[in-house]
Amino acid sequence: MVCPVQAVPAAEEPRAAWHRPADMNTNLLDFDLDGLAAYCEQLGEKRFRATQLFRWIHQRGASDFDQMSDLAKSLREKLKACAHITALPVLTEHVSADGTVKWLFDVGGGDAVEAVFIPEDDRGTLCVSSQAGCAVGCRFCSTGHQGFSRNLSTGEILAQLWYAEHALRKRLGTGGERVISNVVMMGMGEPLQNYTALVPALRAMLDDHGYGLSRRRVTVSTSGVVPMIDRLSQDCAVAMAVSLHAPNDELRDPLVPLNRKYPIHELLDACERYLEFAPRDFITFEYCMLDGVNDQPEHARQLIELVRARGDGRSWCKFNLIPFNPFPASGLLRSPAARVTEFASLLSNAGIVTTVRKTRGDDIDAACGQLAGDVKDRTRAAERMARQRTIVLKQVP
Ligand code: SF4
Repeated sequence: MVCPVQAVPAAEEPRAAWHRPADMNTNLLDFDLDGLAAYCEQLGEKRFRATQLFRWIHQRGASDFDQMSDLAKSLREKLKACAHITALPVLTEHVSADGTVKWLFDVGGGDAVEAVFIPEDDRGTLCVSSQAGCAVGCRFCSTGHQGFSRNLSTGEILAQLWYAEHALRKRLGTGGERVISNVVMMGMGEPLQNYTALVPALRAMLDDHGYGLSRRRVTVSTSGVVPMIDRLSQDCAVAMAVSLHAPNDELRDPLVPLNRKYPIHELLDACERYLEFAPRDFITFEYCMLDGVNDQPEHARQLIELVRARGDGRSWCKFNLIPFNPFPASGLLRSPAARVTEFASLLSNAGIVTTVRKTRGDDIDAACGQLAGDVKDRTRAAERMARQRTIVLKQVP
């Protein structure tokens, strides 16, 4: 059958990604429900057909139109001529002794991105990537040291969740029960620098016909792209985490170079504005503990002052202290455990809720900031990926 869809002009941002022109080769993972409804409309189909299709794709993990038994045969034939549901090729999968699972996905052109599943007693969290590489270049982050390659599409962001959810369901034999209860946009990339692809992906995660996650269980982590924090508050206000990592601009400028554009006071102003729309009544500040750099008692005291100067005396933020995962190019070291404990105590004693991130998946390099550590040298990424494929194939009996 010939595809009946004609190309239409692209809409303006931020809806461009999910109202994209249809073509002969549309990956339906690229749409949120509104986008899929617009696509189906071009096929002459009503919105409820898009809802059925969306449920088949995201709730049941279907990629074959013939499986979709409640869709009219004529629609299935139309879809076969126009569209497909295609996940990202998996280069490697590593399972940690603690149950953490890390996938390396091929996104073409020698680039690869990672997603990590972290199981806990009361939740299953998937850490998802938004870009291949990252332009922000944080000094303590192995992704930042790779440089930036490109933004992921909505479909490439959602494909990580789609694949992980349905692969885990099968493996764990959940009988269709959901495995992933939380998503954190904390993998490779700065999600707010890929805004037009991010927002429809978030909407598909939240949609009751998609993954049905509550806004409190989807977190966007940003290094502080102030204008986009404001836009997200209007377009899709999910939980917010901010990579702070320093109590003053002098220290933050070299650690998080974006700070030169959006200094701490502007970032905290944006956080306060965001809280008016956020699903939680706090912002989480991520703080990577770097030996002798940002881990002194004086730094904790400066953070306490920063927090107390805002919020009108109420608790409005939490701190998550992250043990640093050293890698040679950073020239940085992990703070000793005793210093992390002391730092956490200073914040806690000042009434600030503070946690220390448990390291998970250490045996598979799955910790935050460690993602895609194996592909950080972009010049040899394709070569390395070919080698990884070979290793994986050799493991298959
Ligand atoms: S910490 Fe986040 S924003 Fe900074 S370089 Fe790494 S991926 Fe980019």
